[in-house]
Amino acid sequence: MGKKDFAPIDYNKVIKAGLDKVVKGYTGVKISASVFNRLSQVERVAKLKDFGGKLFASYIKKKISCLSSEHEDSTPSMGFYAGESYVGFNCLGCESKYDIFDIVGAVYHLGSFKDKYSKCVALFCEQGSDRSFKGYGNKSYAYAGSSKVKQSSFKTLTPFEKTLKNKYYIEFPESPEDETQDLTLIDAASYLKKRGIFLGSASIGNNVRYWDYNNYTYIVFVNDDGTVCRRCVDDDYEWRWWNSKGNIGIFNESALYKGQPCFICEGAFDALSLRSIGLPAVSMNSTQNFKKLLGMDGVMPILLPDRDSGGITILNKFKDKFFTPEFYFEGFGDYEILKSGEDVNEAFVRIRKKGTDALLEWRIHLEDLICEAYEYYKRGK
Ligand SMILES: [Zn+2]
Repeated sequence: MGKKDFAPIDYNKVIKAGLDKVVKGYTGVKISASVFNRLSQVERVAKLKDFGGKLFASYIKKKISCLSSEHEDSTPSMGFYAGESYVGFNCLGCESKYDIFDIVGAVYHLGSFKDKYSKCVALFCEQGSDRSFKGYGNKSYAYAGSSKVKQSSFKTLTPFEKTLKNKYYIEFPESPEDETQDLTLIDAASYLKKRGIFLGSASIGNNVRYWDYNNYTYIVFVNDDGTVCRRCVDDDYEWRWWNSKGNIGIFNESALYKGQPCFICEGAFDALSLRSIGLPAVSMNSTQNFKKLLGMDGVMPILLPDRDSGGITILNKFKDKFFTPEFYFEGFGDYEILKSGEDVNEAFVRIRKKGTDALLEWRIHLEDLICEAYEYYKRGK
């Protein structure tokens, strides 16, 4: 898009700016495979540019010296820019522009766009994302909800896509916008914050949206089967929860099929809390789905319902079938992940308030459960 052919990136300048450290050391939140696989090739390129670009922006907060090998830039004049047509670094002096593909190419010494693209997918997308570059215009889609990527070109939309297309559910931006005029977004974002969730975590899976309905702001959880759970941000409103009719799907269901244990929570905010700290989690949304879980092959559930009488009933009912953390029954001292009466999101909010160390420690206990569950399922129930 009017991008001039500028001088190659000076790798020493990349090192100086710390970009190679960011690229090579990146292990944080990634673009979900179920989302990425649904995009067309053009959309994938745009998604990577946007995600990778904003990732850098969050690390490189100030201006850096121009990365161009031809520009002796004594006063740092290259900044990060995210606009409609361009997301990347932009020099105010010589006007050279470098996007995520250019930077990854420089760090890994890659020449062709195809190689840079594949590298970006490997770096910024979850495992299971299609790594091959098929060229523009070649639409290949895949179904989500399966670790096997089914390559077929079908014209009909998945229920998930249909839901997003037919309703005005809006995607969250990946980073906060200071000057947004979108009052619904402001409303939704402040509600998420109250529940410990930042916009970046909400935006990643593409399945959390916001919605204005007659001046009421809703957070919308779009399940893989296209059903939705909507939560009004107004706690006093009589329709706080407004879900699709009939059987409601599992939220974030694709996390179940990753060949690793996955937390099973009751509500979508619980699953979102865990996902925001990089742990695989789904929410059942309805007790019906626990039965559905019984029929699923190759999944490794870790039951983590609310620690109240309803949750303990669920645990007792399924404890012979699925991995169940013992602390629900015994009280585990420092290993207590949920206090009595709490759901996962409430615990998450409580622990976040204590600070990063407390949150890390909590996460470590959860990771221990993942290891225990893995052993449990490998042994054979
Ligand atoms: Zn420059």
